[in-house]
Amino acid sequence: MNTHPAQPTPAYPAAPQSAASHPALGATDPELAALVGAEELLQATTLRLIPSENYVSQAVLEASGTVLQNKYSEGYPGRRYYEGQQNIDQIERLAISRARSLFGVEHANVQPYSGSPANLAVYLAFAEPGDTIMGMALPMGGHLTHGWGVSATGTWFRGVQYGVRHDTGLIDFDEVRELAIKERPKVIFCGGTALPRTIDFAAFAEIARETGAVLAADVAHIAGLIAGGAHPSPAPYADVISTTTHKTLRGPRGAMLMCREEHAKAIDKAVFPGLQGGPHNQTTAAIAVALQEAAQPGFRDYARAVVTNARALAEELLARGFDLVSGGTDNHLILMDLTSRKVPGKVAAKALDRAGIVVNHNTVPYDPRKPFDPSGIRIGTPSLTSRGLAARHMAAIAEWIDRGVTAARTGDEDALAVVRSEVAELMAAFPAPGLPLP
Ligand SMILES: *Cc1c(COP(=O)(O)O)cnc(C)c1O
Repeated sequence: MNTHPAQPTPAYPAAPQSAASHPALGATDPELAALVGAEELLQATTLRLIPSENYVSQAVLEASGTVLQNKYSEGYPGRRYYEGQQNIDQIERLAISRARSLFGVEHANVQPYSGSPANLAVYLAFAEPGDTIMGMALPMGGHLTHGWGVSATGTWFRGVQYGVRHDTGLIDFDEVRELAIKERPKVIFCGGTALPRTIDFAAFAEIARETGAVLAADVAHIAGLIAGGAHPSPAPYADVISTTTHKTLRGPRGAMLMCREEHAKAIDKAVFPGLQGGPHNQTTAAIAVALQEAAQPGFRDYARAVVTNARALAEELLARGFDLVSGGTDNHLILMDLTSRKVPGKVAAKALDRAGIVVNHNTVPYDPRKPFDPSGIRIGTPSLTSRGLAARHMAAIAEWIDRGVTAARTGDEDALAVVRSEVAELMAAFPAPGLPLP
């Protein structure tokens, strides 16, 4: 869904021939190999601040590029519709048991193709078409699949939406409770895509219990922080936990649903045969690898560093006069309101991209501008932390953002080019996991 007019492509250095790193691909399809090489260079030389992105390890990359993808495995371990599952069953069982122990849950389903179908499976398990469901409004920081109108979840179900307070930028639990009592939703979703603050799972659980709703905690963004002990876990509170595996958890593009044993059958039935056919076994394997990595002590250090870096970056941005939604961050994500800087979010995001700083434009709560041309940008620290950047680097990054946003307003392309070369210099000193050295 690209509604934006075509923009000039930023001038990055020429792509290397990626024939060395992907010899078979280079021989079969040089055109595609060159594009992969260009993407490798782009990911290596830019400062990637999109909070839902990361760099997976070489081990995760290898697992997701294996012959496991040749195999059909409809069903679950020990209960398949196809033979030849001697190895696949073990791989899926490994992923399941690692998910259960890492997140402290009784049951895990590792088959959802991505976060959006995982959430659809939650509805399929606990609601009927036409039922009322409740989630955070998209412009307030919620996800499309939490009942927003343009999503199937907002047309097949009656979505009622809560938000954040205008004055604090925080969730108003009195509003959530009143809405839940009035609307009696079957399912309440908590979590979102642009929430810079800790999610109070206990408060949501109390409201869900009071109103007889199923509580679904969508931790897509913060799963890695939870696994690493840098954000409270929803496991004691939520009926079902939905997560992607490719954001802070640093695994392949995929998803998981986790729950107590009482809901296991309903969740499994909803994923298969309810919504999906065969699982993507190469993804299951890569999820298992990522879960193994996330169980190491080093991953706790990573999760803590993601938050430390985000807090340091927020402080540096505040010191430069930027307005941050909710005044700062508790996690990996910062939502910047650029209204006072007199630059629309999209104009700033495109200018920063030309300066080698990759962000996304984003609505801010109570945004007076349109969703496709909003007032804010959303940034985060998962990727830069995976490259080893630390709190001491955040002042330079805040300054680049400051110069980039100013240059966006004044149309100063030369200033953007200077930032671009400074960014590339720092990035060269911090090679990214999984990428060939430039
Ligand atoms: C990213 C995200 C999703 C959707 O994940 P996809 O893999 O893009 O479908 C769902 N919920 C939340 C809160 C997310 O941040």
